[in-house]
Amino acid sequence: MREFALIDRVRETCASARADVLLGIGDDAAVLAVPPGHDLLVSTDTLVAGVHFPHGTAASDIGWKSLAVNLSDIAAMAGTPAWASLALTLPAVDPDWLGEFLEGFRTLARRFDVALVGGDTTRGPLSITVTIQGVVPAGQAVRRSGARAGDMLVVFGDLGRAAAGLRWQLGRPEHARAAAPDDPEIAADLRALNRPEPLVALASILRGRATALIDVSDGLLADLGHVLRQSGVGVSLDLDRIPSWPGLRARFGADAAGALVLTGGDDYALLAAIPPNQVEAVLAGAQGLGIAAASIGSFASAPGIRLGCAGKPMPLPERSGYDHFQ
Ligand code: ADP
Ligand code: MG
Repeated sequence: MREFALIDRVRETCASARADVLLGIGDDAAVLAVPPGHDLLVSTDTLVAGVHFPHGTAASDIGWKSLAVNLSDIAAMAGTPAWASLALTLPAVDPDWLGEFLEGFRTLARRFDVALVGGDTTRGPLSITVTIQGVVPAGQAVRRSGARAGDMLVVFGDLGRAAAGLRWQLGRPEHARAAAPDDPEIAADLRALNRPEPLVALASILRGRATALIDVSDGLLADLGHVLRQSGVGVSLDLDRIPSWPGLRARFGADAAGALVLTGGDDYALLAAIPPNQVEAVLAGAQGLGIAAASIGSFASAPGIRLGCAGKPMPLPERSGYDHFQ
């Protein structure tokens, strides 16, 4: 398959009809109509084989995840995703691999009504870069910098499961990694790792309520640290109030489960700072969407993270999360 046949295949599989796509794949640039009264959100994430997913990961999972991690960034601004572009670097063109990859990408794109409007295609070690664009009512994007002392820390989604899935994957040979395991708990871990569910549906609940918002891609402590630095606050955090904690502790023991929950990456959960008088509405809204949510701590003016479990202070782990250059 040649480069232009590949682009045709991408267009046929993934182009969707959105009225605001004035010009999609095929020209030098896409032309998009941003709705009046909205700000444009733009974010890019790259997945590199062997770094962001283990070698041997199913192509359809890679397609899904490459869009999911970008959708999560739009969710983390409390926005609505709209358009994406896809830069594919492939060692060779394998039509079967491409078909499965596009199937995974398209499934998620359809679900969130995201139109693929362009991209780039090159040869090299497997790497996928997606740029996503979304919209948010003017002035209402939720930043990392707005948390105030007295706000509650609320987590949405499961923490630690994707890291548990990664542990499992790395423990089996590359050729076995696309097979589904029998154990339902391990299957759920692998789903969290390979098919993260971006929490886009929470945006309308969080807009106007959350004072700060971030998605957890590198680990709870690492990403929470960004909110603390940018907001100029500290936080008290209770490990035992995190919904996924009891289940992981029962399976892996307290020490390993603590590391998974606090420093495991790739979950694409959301962390929000919520003023106390809004917490109930936010938790009820998440419950209505079937998304696990819990208030797990509170922000304070004293800097730093004070970790506790069952009422006792706990030391922070040495490593707070994933860092590409550490
Ligand atoms: P140019 O040389 O002007 O950059 P290309 O030949 O790279 O154009 O791409 C032609 C068209 O196909 C453009 O509209 C581009 O956005 C689109 N395109 C190329 N690769 C991809 C891809 N992997 N996914 C989606 N669209 C793509
Ligand atoms: Mg190009």
